[in-house]
Amino acid sequence: MINHRTLSGSNSATIKSHNLQTILKALLRHEHISRAHLAQLTGLSNTTITNQIAALLEQGIVEEGGTARLQQRPGAGRPRMALRLVPDARYAVGIHIGVGQIRVALTNLRANIIASHSFTHPLDKSANDVLDQAVMQLHNLIEQHGIDTGNIIGVGVGASGLVDPETGVNVMAPNLGWNNIPVKDYLRQRLNRPVTVDNNVRAMALGEALFGAAKNVRTLAFVYARYGVGAGFVVDEQLYRGSGAGAGEIGHTTITLEGGELCRCGNRGCLEPLVSEPSIMAQAQEMARKYSHGLLAHHLNSVETPTIEQVFAAARAGDAAVQTMLTERARYMGIALANLVNILNPELILLGGIFCQGHDLLLPTVEQVMRQRSFGNLGERVEIKATEFTTQAGIIGGAALALDRFFYRQETTF
Ligand SMILES: [Zn+2]
Repeated sequence: MINHRTLSGSNSATIKSHNLQTILKALLRHEHISRAHLAQLTGLSNTTITNQIAALLEQGIVEEGGTARLQQRPGAGRPRMALRLVPDARYAVGIHIGVGQIRVALTNLRANIIASHSFTHPLDKSANDVLDQAVMQLHNLIEQHGIDTGNIIGVGVGASGLVDPETGVNVMAPNLGWNNIPVKDYLRQRLNRPVTVDNNVRAMALGEALFGAAKNVRTLAFVYARYGVGAGFVVDEQLYRGSGAGAGEIGHTTITLEGGELCRCGNRGCLEPLVSEPSIMAQAQEMARKYSHGLLAHHLNSVETPTIEQVFAAARAGDAAVQTMLTERARYMGIALANLVNILNPELILLGGIFCQGHDLLLPTVEQVMRQRSFGNLGERVEIKATEFTTQAGIIGGAALALDRFFYRQETTF
C-alpha cells in the first residue's frame, strides 16, 4: 500500500492525489519519459516530481529504463534517465455483460489483456447465477496466472442498459430482463476488490479514449450495435453521462415516422429495430425461406446456429439481395450518425459490434450518408472507423473503468 502522506510535499491530500494522477496519466501516454520532461508536461515542480516518482519506484510501479531509448537532441545537454510505467506492476479486472454473453478478463495497467474467458448464458438465467459464473471464471483466471489478488487495483463492469454509476446498480436491462441488480455490491462482496459499474458502451468509449484509437481525441462517440444499439461519449477524457446517466440512447432516436417495427421501448420507428442483429437476422431468415436455393439460404443452412456472420458471408459471396438489405440498414445508421454529428460534433466516431464485424459491407454507406446529411462541413471533418479492439472492446472498456477510477484517478490507495 502506498502511504499518500509520503508521496509529496504538497499541503492537501487533494492536491497530492491530483499531482499523482497527473504524473500517472503522463506516464501512461509516454513509453519513456525523463523527470525533466514530466515536469515540463505537468507543470509540477521538480521537487514534487522527485518525491512522487521516488514513491512510485519504491512500489515497483515505475522503473528507470536507461537512456538509450530516449530521443535526445544532439547537444541537448547530459542524457537524462528515462522513466517508464511498469505495465505488469498491478492488474485490473474487466467484465463485459452483453445480452446472452459475458466476457471476463485480467489486464495490466495499460489494459493489455493477460487472460480472458467468455461464456454464453440463456436469457432466462437469473442475474445472480450469471454473476456467480463470472466470479468463478475470474477466480480460475487469477489462479491459473498466479496473480496476487492484492495487486488487482479494481474491477470494472460494463453492463447492459441503464446503470447508476454512483450505486453500481444495473437499474434496467430490458434485453436481459434485469431490474435493479446491485452489481457493484454483489461483486465487491465476492471479489473483495473495489468495483465500478457503468453502461457497457460507455465503458468501451472510455477504453478507446485511454488505451485505443481515441487517445489523442477530445470528443469521441462510440456507437455499438448488436442486440441493442447504444452510444458512449468521452469529452476531454471524461465520460459524458447526461443528467440521469442516460446519455447515448441513440438506439431509441426516431428514424421513421410512419410504420416501423415495434421497439422494445414501446415506440415505433426507433433506430434499434432497424439495425440490430436480431432484426437483420429475422429479415435474412425470411429472405432465405423465399429463395431456398439462393446463396443466403446456402450460407444460413451451412451451420447449426446461423449468426449474422453467415449473412455477411452471403453478401461477400455476391448475394445482391442481401447486399441491398444491408445497404438499407447502413443508411439508417448513417442518418442516426448525422443527427449525432449535428448535436455532439465529435472528432471521431468508432463503431463496434456488428458494424465492426461487417464494416467492409456497412461502413462505406454509413459514412456516405453520415457525411451527406450532417450540417455544413461537420460531417466532412469527423473521422469514422470500426474499433480495432473488435470483440475485446467490452472487456478493455470494463478494465478501463477500473483503471481510470482506481489507478489513474487515484480514488483509492493501491
Ligand atoms: Zn426504441
